[in-house]
Amino acid sequence: MAAPPHPDPRPAPIDLRRLAATPIHELLALHARHINPAYAATIKTIGYDRDYVRAEGQYLYDRDGRRYLDCFAGYAVHNCGRNHPVIRDAVAQALDLDLPSLPAIGPFRLAPHLARELLELAPPPLTKAYFANSGAEAVDAAIKFARAFTGRPTIVYCDDAYHGLTIGALSVNANPEFRDGFGPLLTDTRRVPFDDVDALAGALAPGDVAAVIVEPIQGKGVNIPGDDYLASAHALCRRHGVLLIADEIQTGMARTGRMFACEHWGLEPDIMLLGKALSGGYVPVSAVLTRDDVHEAVFSSMSNCSRIQSTFSMNDPAMAAGLATLHVLRSEALSERADRMGRRIAETLRETLLPLDLVADVRAKGLMIGVEFRRPERGSLRLAWDTIHKVDPSLFCQAILIPLLRDHAVLAQVAGHGRDVIKLTPPLLITEADCDHLCNALRETIGACHAFPGPVGRLAASFAGVAMKRRSGARSPQIHSRPASPAPQGDPIPNAQD
Ligand code: PLP
Repeated sequence: MAAPPHPDPRPAPIDLRRLAATPIHELLALHARHINPAYAATIKTIGYDRDYVRAEGQYLYDRDGRRYLDCFAGYAVHNCGRNHPVIRDAVAQALDLDLPSLPAIGPFRLAPHLARELLELAPPPLTKAYFANSGAEAVDAAIKFARAFTGRPTIVYCDDAYHGLTIGALSVNANPEFRDGFGPLLTDTRRVPFDDVDALAGALAPGDVAAVIVEPIQGKGVNIPGDDYLASAHALCRRHGVLLIADEIQTGMARTGRMFACEHWGLEPDIMLLGKALSGGYVPVSAVLTRDDVHEAVFSSMSNCSRIQSTFSMNDPAMAAGLATLHVLRSEALSERADRMGRRIAETLRETLLPLDLVADVRAKGLMIGVEFRRPERGSLRLAWDTIHKVDPSLFCQAILIPLLRDHAVLAQVAGHGRDVIKLTPPLLITEADCDHLCNALRETIGACHAFPGPVGRLAASFAGVAMKRRSGARSPQIHSRPASPAPQGDPIPNAQD
C-alpha cells in the first residue's frame, strides 16, 4: 500500500492582503491601543487619517480612488517614487535568489558592489563605506570615527540641526522638543549658529574638537547657507585638524538637484552620511563614507575589524534596494529633473506668494523647498496670527496644510516644531502638471488665509475653544468620532521629524 502523502510541513502563507485592507477606523483603534494613542489621535485631529490603500510614484490613492500628490514622501524617503518597479524587482531578486544574506563572519555578496558604486559618485577623498540601518545610527558611527581619528572628544553642531534621535545623534540635535527629558546626553558637544563662520572659528579655537557635523541644507526650516559658508567652514576645520561631517541623509540621493548637495558648493567633506532615499523606500539602509585614514583609525587591524557594526547592516535586500536606487536615479536623470521641477515650483511660488502679506520667503534647492510665513501687517490678520501662535506656536501652518490635503489632495509637512515654514519634498519624478497643481493649491490655500477670520481665525478659535473646554474638565474627543472641527488632544501639533 502506498504511503499516505506527506503533509506539507510549511504553514499556509499569511494573508497580508486581508490585513492591509483593515478599515481605517479599526486600524487607528489598533494603533491607539497597541502602538501610540497620541499619534493616532493627532493624525485624526488634523485630518491626516486618510484611508490610503495604494501608492505609486508621487501619488497615494485612498479607498475611494481619490489621488493625492505626496509632497512629504515619507520624510523625503521616496526620491524615486513609491513602489518603483525596478527597485521592487531588485528587492524581489534578492529574495528569489535565496542569497546567504547576513553571513555574519563571511562574505557579503552585494555590499561591496553598493560600496563601490556609492564611492564612485562621492567626492574623491571618500574611499570607504560603512553601512548601517538608519540615519541616526550612521551619525553615531560618524561620531565614533571622528573621535577615534582625532583622539579628541568634542563634536560641534549647528542651531536648528536635526541628525536623528539615538542618544549620540540627539546630543548633536538642536531641537529641544526632541532632546528634553532624555538627558544626560553626550557632554562634549558645542553648538554654533548655522551659516556663521566666525562663530565656528570661536568653537574650534579650544583645540578639543573632533568634528563639525552639518547638514548642507538644514531640514528644519529648509535653511540654505550662504555661498561661502561650507567651503569656509571646511577650510577652518582643516586648519584645526578637525573633520567635517556632511550629513546628506536628507539632502543626498539627488534631492536638491545634484546627487549630493555638497556638489552645489564644491564641498569635499571628510565624512559623508547617506540614508533615507538610498533605501528606494523599501529596505532601510544608511551609509557612512569616509577617507581611508579616517576608516583606518577605527578598523586598523584584524582584531578590531568589526569594532563598529550592526547585526542587520549590509543585508542583501537593503543592498539590492540601494543598488537599484542608484540605477534609477541615474537612468531616469532624477537630479536634473529635481533641479528643473524645483526651479519651476520656486519661480511660480515666488511670483504668486511673495506679494502676499503672510509670506516671508520661498527657499529652494531642487525639490527641497520651504515657504516661510511672517506676522502680517494688517490689523485683523495680525490678531488672528497672534491668537493662533498663542494657542500653539506650531499651529499656524496647519491652517494651510489641513485644507491643502482636504481640498486639493496635496500632502505636505511643517518644517519643524514651532516654525512657520511649510516644507515640500516630493518624489523627484513629479511632472510639470504636478508642479502646477501644487502651486495653484498653495496659492489658493495661502490666499484664503488672508481673509478674516478665514482658516487662520477659525482654526485658532476651534483650538482655543477646545483648550478652554479641556481646562474646564470636558473630555477630549474620542478617536472613533471625527471632531466637527480640528481639535487638539493636548499634545503639540505634529511637526516634521526631520
Ligand atoms: N540626519 C538628517 C539630516 C535627517 O534628516 C534625519 C532624519 O530625518 C536623520 C539624520 C536621522 O535619520 P533616521 O530617522 O533614519 O534615523
